[in-house]
Amino acid sequence: MKKNDFQKSAANLKKAVPLMVKHHVPATPANYALWYTYVDQTIPELNADMDAILKDYDVLPPVNTASLYRNHIADKAEVDLQDLKVNLEAIVTEMSSSMSDALTDTTDFSKALENSFDGLSSSLDAERAPTLDDVMPLIKQLVDEASEIRHSTDFIQGQLKNASDEISRLKSQLAKVQCNAMFDSLTTLYNRGAFDADLTMFCQAKQPMSLILLDIDHFKKFNDEMGHLFGDTILKGISQRLKQACRGGIAAYRFGGEEFALIVPNKSLRVARQMADALRLAIEKMTIKDRKNGNKVGNITASFGVAEFVAGDSYASLVERADKQLYDAKRSGRNRVMPF
Ligand code: GH3
Ligand code: MG
Ligand code: MG
Repeated sequence: MKKNDFQKSAANLKKAVPLMVKHHVPATPANYALWYTYVDQTIPELNADMDAILKDYDVLPPVNTASLYRNHIADKAEVDLQDLKVNLEAIVTEMSSSMSDALTDTTDFSKALENSFDGLSSSLDAERAPTLDDVMPLIKQLVDEASEIRHSTDFIQGQLKNASDEISRLKSQLAKVQCNAMFDSLTTLYNRGAFDADLTMFCQAKQPMSLILLDIDHFKKFNDEMGHLFGDTILKGISQRLKQACRGGIAAYRFGGEEFALIVPNKSLRVARQMADALRLAIEKMTIKDRKNGNKVGNITASFGVAEFVAGDSYASLVERADKQLYDAKRSGRNRVMPF
């Protein structure tokens, strides 16, 4: 690798890493590639997309990271990722060569030491006994050299260890990232894993937001009466409707079975409740066609629980609060949003 390339990539990494820390971005290869490209400004569309997301959130949600990576990096710039890997490897190589330089220095130092002692013994052998004045500068010089070399060796050793730890972590994460599908195959919404990753990060970052959980009412009945495949069609239909609500940073997830979640950034409980109620009405009006017999099925309803993030909330406490509201909505007759 050319010296310039190395300097440039080191400079980019130096810019990218603090940004990643600031935005609570975990150190995965995809994230490195994304933020590296962001500071490199080689793909203006990527910068525009990332800036737009960072306007809604203080953090870069993992699900957005995944799609940004897919849209901008994986296709167009697989080469850049390759570059990044090469760069990281180059850093390690550079470190190990500084390391062996330091070791050479150490060897030089022992040689210097030997020479000095040789000098010392030969002067001892000489007619004139060495005075303290003769020996002191020699010793001082040796001590200085020794501590300098020890210092730089420790430092480089530390750096080298950090870098190689980082590389092995990146390697194992690369494998995970590659098989980590963020999407639910039936509904094409983000899946539970994506929900867990996003909400956990938002809570850690103290992202202002509200959480909406919804559960289809008496869904078992649809399955029992119309068949499981038709049940699937209902799940897809509702998911489509939820996707339409995904503007301004809102993301929809399949939480499990016939339960869904929406994370609504920067919105109070009151506003999120209004959104939930609009969705509730939209679902109530939906009709879904049964392909087998052409019948249209209506009367699909869902119950909603809403909770707003408050200081000190964790993933668990926030989900629990929304879930409790959902349970209340079910208990007080279904097809409603709680808190009322
Ligand atoms: P409630 O109003 O209390 O929520 O009643 P419910 O019938 O919706 O709730 P229950 O938890 O008893 O049943 C949920 C059903 O959802 C049971 C399960 O078979 C069905 N289900 C879960 N995942 C899927 C799926 O992927 N496809 C289909 N068709 N059904 C599913
Ligand atoms: Mg349920
Ligand atoms: Mg249900």
